[in-house]
Amino acid sequence: MPLLIMKFGGTSVADADAIARVAAIIMDQQAEGDSIVAVVSAMSGVTDMLTSGVRAAATGSDAVCRDVAEEILHRTREAADKLIPASAAERRSVVTAAEELLASYVAVCRSVHVLAEATPRVLDRATSCGELLVADLLAAHLCTMGASSQVVNPAEVIVTDDTFQNALPLPVETAEHCARHLAPLIAQGVIPVIGGFIGATVDGVTTTLGRGGSDFSAAVLGQALAADEVWIWTDVDGVMSADPRLVKDARVIPVLSYVEVGELAYFGAAVLHPRTIRPLVDGRIPLRIKNTFRPQASGTRIEPEANPAPGTVKAVTNIQGLSMVTVEGRGMLGVPGIAARTFEAVARCKANVLMISQASSEQSICFVIPAHDVACVCGKLEEEFALEISRREIDRVGALDGVGVVTALGAGMRGIAGVAGRLFTALAQYGVNIIAIAQGSSECSVSIVVTEEDGESAVRAIHEEVMRR
Ligand code: ADP
Ligand code: ASP
Ligand code: MG
Repeated sequence: MPLLIMKFGGTSVADADAIARVAAIIMDQQAEGDSIVAVVSAMSGVTDMLTSGVRAAATGSDAVCRDVAEEILHRTREAADKLIPASAAERRSVVTAAEELLASYVAVCRSVHVLAEATPRVLDRATSCGELLVADLLAAHLCTMGASSQVVNPAEVIVTDDTFQNALPLPVETAEHCARHLAPLIAQGVIPVIGGFIGATVDGVTTTLGRGGSDFSAAVLGQALAADEVWIWTDVDGVMSADPRLVKDARVIPVLSYVEVGELAYFGAAVLHPRTIRPLVDGRIPLRIKNTFRPQASGTRIEPEANPAPGTVKAVTNIQGLSMVTVEGRGMLGVPGIAARTFEAVARCKANVLMISQASSEQSICFVIPAHDVACVCGKLEEEFALEISRREIDRVGALDGVGVVTALGAGMRGIAGVAGRLFTALAQYGVNIIAIAQGSSECSVSIVVTEEDGESAVRAIHEEVMRR
């Protein structure tokens, strides 16, 4: 029997109606002859609320977490009342489990309040309850509808390292745990329901895979179980040519390759967590993005290989909140090791470098990092190059704040000289000033640094002038 991992995002499980829709999708697919593993997000807004409760506790108020717990409990109870008949024992057990989880959330927040500090480890513990609540609701509702379903604790199947807030699953250990806890259920025709976003270290300490990480959970389970496909169900018809909130006539892209969608997610398209592709590559597991609210729409299919239409840009993305750091000076010309030392210094701050551009004269290296890392990075660079700066070989380590990166992408851009020209003409027509450019090494993307204020115009310019023609 083909095995599908189906992941449902926050809006897809936002309330009782949405969860009922999800159950219907799962049961219809099972009726087609597939085995299903369901992965769920927290109800939309819940992870944000849980996080704000912990942060407020750390900075002095222990009242916020109580309000948060009360509101989430209310939403859960309301959903349970609609999804599970009063006569079923599951209704009471789902509500009791929710009460216990949220009481433990409040207890964790209280300790945060006392210590006046929310460590990444505590944040993971506190924010992980949102997905567990939805898993309980969905599994109980599936049983009510006559399916055979069981909740599986993600901490028992997804084994991760201890990078709290951004944990990385360990594939071998995860596969072993999945073989033990999931495979027997699947073989018996049971639909396992698992909270996404969450894992646990080898020692059993709760971790999370980073915001938006449920997509990644689904892919990790797909790899561990050698699934036939992974389907991400969300609130839009698929991956679109631009963020639909920004560009009204953005279109659904029917097919994309792993590399294309990887770049798209990396450069800020919120529709998919950037790490989702990696676990699928070795097993060449196809991925689909579909709309829970319009399951009949075919969505986006993501396949191992690209099928490029020459000269075409398929999508444009925009990331904000960045800074561009420049290291420059005449003394850098031809001196080996400057780039290596630059990026070693950056690595000491654990900053994520989004793009790099070096002037051909070799007199400057510039790169883009999240704005919150800029103080650390500039400090480390000044330390690293103190000698060169004192000798005036390096003139300056400077940062330009308030920039964004707009990326145009599509495998058809490879080797087509005219594309960059068309991009720049479009930006000039919209009055967008280009600060720096870089081509991705996969050659299927061109990234352009612009000011944050210009970001949206740049996206519209490229969508309008380059992609519609
Ligand atoms: P979920 O809760 O289902 O994981 P997300 O909010 O994480 O949903 O991702 C879906 C949202 O991503 C869409 O509602 C859309 O507004 C946004 N989005 C941004 N860029 C794109 C894009 N290129 N294609 C599709 N959706 C996008
Ligand atoms: N609930 C988590 C978040 O909001 C994970 C997810 O939705 O994928 O980040
Ligand atoms: Mg998401």
